[in-house]
Amino acid sequence: MEFIQINHSCYYFNGPVNVGYVNEGEHGLLIDTGIDKQVMKKIIRKLEELSLPITHLFITHAHADHYGGANYLQASKRVYTIAPAVEESILQNPILEPIYLSQGNRPLDEMRNKFLEAPPVRVDLVVTEGVIELGQFNLELIPLPGHSINQLGVKVKRILYAADSYFSAEQLNKHRIPYIIDADATLATLEKLLSMDVDGSIPGHGIYEENPDQTLITNYDHHVAIIESMYEILSMYESGCSFETFMSEMCRRWEVKLQSVSVWALYRTAINSYLLKGIEDKRINVEIRDFSLYFTPIAEA
Ligand SMILES: [Zn+2]
Repeated sequence: MEFIQINHSCYYFNGPVNVGYVNEGEHGLLIDTGIDKQVMKKIIRKLEELSLPITHLFITHAHADHYGGANYLQASKRVYTIAPAVEESILQNPILEPIYLSQGNRPLDEMRNKFLEAPPVRVDLVVTEGVIELGQFNLELIPLPGHSINQLGVKVKRILYAADSYFSAEQLNKHRIPYIIDADATLATLEKLLSMDVDGSIPGHGIYEENPDQTLITNYDHHVAIIESMYEILSMYESGCSFETFMSEMCRRWEVKLQSVSVWALYRTAINSYLLKGIEDKRINVEIRDFSLYFTPIAEA
């Protein structure tokens, strides 16, 4: 994992999941932790080598790949831990993620893997949007919902740590249908990011860019293409199609690979996000037929 300096105070560890770091004198803030103890150990060792402090931890959203190292960090260092409202309840009760991905059921054992559930995290301060002074830090917390319910980005020293509000083009290409829970919020967040005045931005998966506009537009267009494919597929089913049929068609169209039940559950949520948008936009009708949900395109007036 490469440790990259952005400006006098801001850095990041570039890995499968990026971890931000901000230094102000005696204080050092980590933004997310990476997926597990092993990643956290490497980060702690690197910062200690450089005599850089770790005093604070901010977790952008409660996905295990972003907070999985937090429990180990809290056991090894005194870190004041900050997290967004709602996300915080999952951090303290991590079984909630496999539960919600199982539609509320007690999750199968295979759903309780390190990608979906990590050791619990103590949260010292629950935050919402706005500017907060914390130790020597002045942080602007920016709501970036869409990928999770209450994800917050951190703007500090004109650099935006953007969490999973957008992905690199490589990530989009790899996942085909990126994980989101709300398509409208995802698009609104991308519009907000396009209008932000920052010196640069770093996503949770990808690289730091001084001008991320092209990447943001690529993300926006990618979601629009998924939405268009949804209407194309539904137009083949004038009398409606079940969720299962719709999901199969979408996965075939986007050449998604579903290697496990947990990956299937993530895609089910992502794909449902676009259907919800269609229903709220009054372009899709949902009804219960033959004990299943059926989705029918509404003819445009
Ligand atoms: Zn995430």
